[in-house]
Amino acid sequence: MAKTVGAKGAKGARGVKTPKASGKYVYLFGAKTDGNGGMKPLLGGKGANLAEMCRIGLPVPPGFTITTEVCTYYYAHKRTYPSSLRPQMEAGLAAIERQTGKKFGDLRNPLLVSVRSGARDSMPGMMDTILNLGLNDQTVEALTRKTGNARFAWDCYRRFVQMYGDVVLGVQKGAGEDHEPFETVIEGLKHERYHQDIEDTKLTVDDLKELVGRFKALVKERVGRQFPASPWDQLMGAVGAVFGSWMNDRAIVYRRKYNIPTEWGTAVNVQAMVYGNTGEKSGSGVAFTRNPANGTKEFYGEFLINAQGEDVVAGVRTPEPVAQLKNELPKAYAELERIRQTLEKHFKDVQDFEFTIEDGVVYMLQTRNGKRTAMAALKFSIDMYKEKLIDWKTAVMRNPADQFEQLLAPVFDVAEVAKAKAIATGLPAGPGAASGQIYLNADRAVSASEKGQPVLLVRLETSPEDLRGMIAAEGILTARGGVSSHAALVARQMGKVCVCGAAAVEVDYATRTVNVDGQTFKEGDWMSIDGTAGKVYAGRVKTAPSEIVAGLIHDDRAARKTEKFRNFQQLMKWCDEATRMDVRTNADTPEQTANAIAFGASGIGLCRTEHMFFEGDRIDAMREMILAETLEERKAALDKLLPYQREDFAGIFRALKGHPATIRFLDPPLHEFLPQTKEQQSDLAKKLGVPASRIHSRVAQLHEFNPMLGFRGCRLGIGYPEISAMQARAVFEAAAMVQKEGIKVHPEIMIPLVGFKKELDLQLEVVHQAARDVQAEQKVKLNYMVGTMIEIPRGALTADEIAESAEFFSFGTNDLTQTALGMSRDDSGSFLPQYAELEIMKKNPFATIDTVGVGQLVETAVTRGRATRKDLKLGICGEHGGDPSSIHFFEKVGLDYVSCSPYRVPVARLAAAQAALAK
Ligand code: PEP
Ligand code: MG
Repeated sequence: MAKTVGAKGAKGARGVKTPKASGKYVYLFGAKTDGNGGMKPLLGGKGANLAEMCRIGLPVPPGFTITTEVCTYYYAHKRTYPSSLRPQMEAGLAAIERQTGKKFGDLRNPLLVSVRSGARDSMPGMMDTILNLGLNDQTVEALTRKTGNARFAWDCYRRFVQMYGDVVLGVQKGAGEDHEPFETVIEGLKHERYHQDIEDTKLTVDDLKELVGRFKALVKERVGRQFPASPWDQLMGAVGAVFGSWMNDRAIVYRRKYNIPTEWGTAVNVQAMVYGNTGEKSGSGVAFTRNPANGTKEFYGEFLINAQGEDVVAGVRTPEPVAQLKNELPKAYAELERIRQTLEKHFKDVQDFEFTIEDGVVYMLQTRNGKRTAMAALKFSIDMYKEKLIDWKTAVMRNPADQFEQLLAPVFDVAEVAKAKAIATGLPAGPGAASGQIYLNADRAVSASEKGQPVLLVRLETSPEDLRGMIAAEGILTARGGVSSHAALVARQMGKVCVCGAAAVEVDYATRTVNVDGQTFKEGDWMSIDGTAGKVYAGRVKTAPSEIVAGLIHDDRAARKTEKFRNFQQLMKWCDEATRMDVRTNADTPEQTANAIAFGASGIGLCRTEHMFFEGDRIDAMREMILAETLEERKAALDKLLPYQREDFAGIFRALKGHPATIRFLDPPLHEFLPQTKEQQSDLAKKLGVPASRIHSRVAQLHEFNPMLGFRGCRLGIGYPEISAMQARAVFEAAAMVQKEGIKVHPEIMIPLVGFKKELDLQLEVVHQAARDVQAEQKVKLNYMVGTMIEIPRGALTADEIAESAEFFSFGTNDLTQTALGMSRDDSGSFLPQYAELEIMKKNPFATIDTVGVGQLVETAVTRGRATRKDLKLGICGEHGGDPSSIHFFEKVGLDYVSCSPYRVPVARLAAAQAALAK
């Protein structure tokens, strides 16, 4: 594909300047094509690819694209347009007229156009499409005369008034309504005239005329003005509606979820209509060049004969699989097959495209890279590599790291599913298994999920208003709609488990019940769906690990033989070839360690030793230590803890099989280990045989107003060096023991919360003394390092001094974010959502590193640390270590490794490889 990015005026991701009143705002496509596929920032995804398809000779109806710059201008100038826009649009329309031989608003051969939005990435929630624009009471007669097909002309007009009324004039269902008002009018007429629900194609010319009249009356009643008759008024209204929809709530919610900058703006595409509703030799469809749910190489999609595009996705009629066209319109099918091949050869990726067949002739209306599940992405990437369409590096880049965890998501337990009876089947639109309590509307789904319930959103079909509910739900079940329905598209993108078009599911919004197979389910009842098989079950079905987890963690032979498992292993192998950074894990137990190693971790980046004190009886010894009043008492309690710690470390060293382990010394404030309620304190007093008052007073004494900024981290080890001495001894004794078993051991002792070099030095003395003692006692030579966490700003700023003593740094970005931003990592939930809404911060800084602020501290510490010690080892062990976009930043600043929880390890390996390849 051509890679020329935007002619003049195209912007980088965030470089926004306000466009001038003059400039090129309209780009033609058709016989003359101004743009190309590389111009997405300027022309939007749809516009750029329409241009690209024209360039490679695919049949595209002529049109023009109004650039995203106009959107920027529109918002910067109180919703007005640059003065040169209108003349440029007129010239664009004239070009369409020349190519089609039709004229806009003409009373002999009227040109009708579609108006469609087109952001850089497709964005559900925005105004999408207006078809048949240009019709009014006169042009509809002209179209009738010209085509000799009154039914077709009036069907177009009916559709136009409905779509325009809905998306441009805002005649939509209100808060309390479950049905679209225009649909209610249609249903009313059908029942009045036919006493039943007939298909739209059965409506007569007279019915359609009546509908147009009633629709206009509805518009007048709801909007308070007449439906616009002038084609140019219609066009400008539609263009304004596209730009206006960029800032509607749904679009904003969507942008926030996918971190799409507001500045990008949308383009508008105006294109000559081609008609899928002229009769039985016409139709409309959407298709993927391969199956986007499971990745199979098959022509996948659906179409409707005698229909316009929106019918396919709206779920009004149930579409037929695209393969069926082979029988119904064989020539058109052969042409579509040719197009399918051409698209993949040219774009070298799976395409999701829209087409219309007008009297047997195929036209392309859109193509874009198809959204896909993680499972499909994996299969596409490996298959396309084997087909020599892409190289292995591209294959790595083709797997979205954000979605990759889906591959590890549970599936239903085979034995449980065998016992369960499927009560309905639908299309497998989003793979995986989900059980949840059903809710029939988005608001109720959201509030149930906020209460901690796993939610299954069940609807007749979904629409962009349901987005919030879909985000909150574990899974989505719809009664209507095909593989390209809204539910399927959104589920695929979000990685939600989804079954759609399960016709046996009867949804009754009024009673808030669902009837399936003779059973009635109320809101709050449990149902389960298998989005891989398309099955629906009553109640809760137990889940089992995915093939990848089964193969790697449980060493399940059958799982290891599956294609999914083998593809995953191949991808991980490529990742290892591409990556510069290592991926380590945050693990505190041998089991977690073994899991992470199975997932490909190259060691432990953070072992939080405090977690080890909570198990079994050790908490009692820990509490004794904290309650001790003298050094002797404290040492006696620590002596009890030592063997536990030694055993823990030995287990971890064995599980690591020679990989290094960064072991962090005690970090949390001591009060966290003591019981807080009076009853618990009295119980402990009894258990330890001490007066309850002693416990109360120690708890009171340890109380801090800001414990996260208090007596924690290295401050504990400095206050009580004997704690660090015990921990160091436990590490070294375990190391000596395991080394004697013939397993290599590389302990890296890490001191937390260091802000002053002297803090580290004081702890170093203790650690080195323990090392000397144990090596002498055990007659072994141990290979160990001592380093520090960089997790408070002063530590980062004085990294040059600290590196004189530290052999490695590991960035504790949880605390570093907390201290740099002055925002509590535990309490920020109360205001962060509003911060996201106001775009004060684009992303939650505790999930994705704030590169601008906190990132500077990281970069400073890297530069200053390495200036002192060239071979300083650098890692990151905060939550950001498993976040793909943060990983890109860590690659950029040159860290040696990232560390994350065991189940994030594959995601981090993929993201680290992609970050290295992107450089
Ligand atoms: C950190 O602060 O980033 C870190 C890894 O340590 P903890 O989360 O244990 O404070
Ligand atoms: Mg920390």
